Amino acid sequence: MHQLTLANISKALADKQFSARELTSHLLTRIEQLDPQLNSFITVSTEQALQQADAADTARSQGQTGPLLGVPLAHKDLFCTQGIRTSCASKTLDNFIAPYNANVVEKLNHAGVVSLGKLNMDEFAMGSSGETSFYGASKNPWDTSRVPGGSSSGSAVAVAARLVPAATGSDSGGSIRQPAAFTGLTGIKPTYGRISRWGMTAYASSFDQAGFLAHNAEDCAILLQATAGFDERDSTSAQQPVDDYAAALTQPLQGLRIGLPKEYFCSSLDARIGDVVNTAIEQLKQLGATFVDISLPTLPHAVAAYYVIASAEASTNLARFDGVRFGHRCADPKDLEDLYVRSRDEAFGAEVKRRIMMGTYALSTGYYDAYYLKAQKIRRLIKNDFVSAFKDVDLILGPTTPNLPWQLGAKTNDPVAAYLEDIYTVPANLAGIPGLSMPAGMIDGLPVGVQLQAPYFQEARMLQVAHQFQQHTAWHTNAPAGF
Ligand code: GLN
Repeated sequence: MHQLTLANISKALADKQFSARELTSHLLTRIEQLDPQLNSFITVSTEQALQQADAADTARSQGQTGPLLGVPLAHKDLFCTQGIRTSCASKTLDNFIAPYNANVVEKLNHAGVVSLGKLNMDEFAMGSSGETSFYGASKNPWDTSRVPGGSSSGSAVAVAARLVPAATGSDSGGSIRQPAAFTGLTGIKPTYGRISRWGMTAYASSFDQAGFLAHNAEDCAILLQATAGFDERDSTSAQQPVDDYAAALTQPLQGLRIGLPKEYFCSSLDARIGDVVNTAIEQLKQLGATFVDISLPTLPHAVAAYYVIASAEASTNLARFDGVRFGHRCADPKDLEDLYVRSRDEAFGAEVKRRIMMGTYALSTGYYDAYYLKAQKIRRLIKNDFVSAFKDVDLILGPTTPNLPWQLGAKTNDPVAAYLEDIYTVPANLAGIPGLSMPAGMIDGLPVGVQLQAPYFQEARMLQVAHQFQQHTAWHTNAPAGF
């Protein structure tokens, strides 16, 4: 049962091959047996899962249907879940029980999903490895001495290890696409504003976007269909109509023009990953797509601009965790300042503190113009690069990551080296366009991802290309040994 994709689970439930209760119990047992070596879950909500499974089985016996009715999922631990701890993998929220559900959770519950629990992540979604979590790092099931990527590390690990068929994630600079690439999954970051951010704890509000990690494009399409759309509670939520994603999947690729940015194929790219990308290009050519060389000239400045803006936004977003309004409070404060200082010092990890310091610095008088404003100007140039590229091409293709998953601990003392790993993913967030990573090869037993990027609100196009690719390749069906 655990090897099935979400779409196949959906069919099997409809055909009564097994009940939601049977599937849920099976997966809960797998989590209990296998997760101690992977650390992908922060909270397993056994009781709620069994209740939701029984409710789905009852609804089905009364004639209710739906692609997600009784389908198990798990949520990145920054989506508020009513009555279940929402920690953001931070000590400061270690005991926070959300009083309401995030929009994404609400919509998925409404569709009948069974939530197995909350997944590990980098603290407040700051990181690319999963190692900044207060609850310890998640391990990559393809090689447990390596990182699974981040910040949606637990989401990637739990799906790759077949503990759950799909999971929610969030992507502010690559946090869905990069861990999807590192674990052999398909991960989609929709256009900024496509899915409501309401109830998704803010890291860098102008970048944050909810999305999914699953085994294939078809599963991503089902989940996006259930969650995309306007929400008046998120002022940045888009009023755009939602496409029929399932219908798009089956469209042939003939006539589709795909751009290859020359800046993506540079010396910092592991040449073996370059080969995987080239093989994928050849396969897509056979399916009818044509490829065009393009240029995104501002790309070399993307990582610097992203880290200035993201840290600036993080420093203001995290101001609310002061031990008074939200978050951990220190014992026996001497006075108000001591309370603020010690509460925050005790409760935030090193990476979060680093971002708050960088962001506060970039926003302070005298530095605002030199750093923050300049970064915003670069952001606009990057957006312009994409807008002009999409005048000639329908999609952009390239690697998702410049390197393979690294050894746990290898970049802990070199944060800038970790930041540079985000080179291919942050541009989409700076511009607000959608991106998707799909598995396209293996190197030394480790999965490799290829990234697609599309114009605003053209998620259907990326899903179409990924689905057609997956109809003719088997990378997305590979499972790590032992899982
Ligand atoms: N790795 C990036 C960062 O650390 C992206 C994180 C994210 O997308 N949430 O900020």
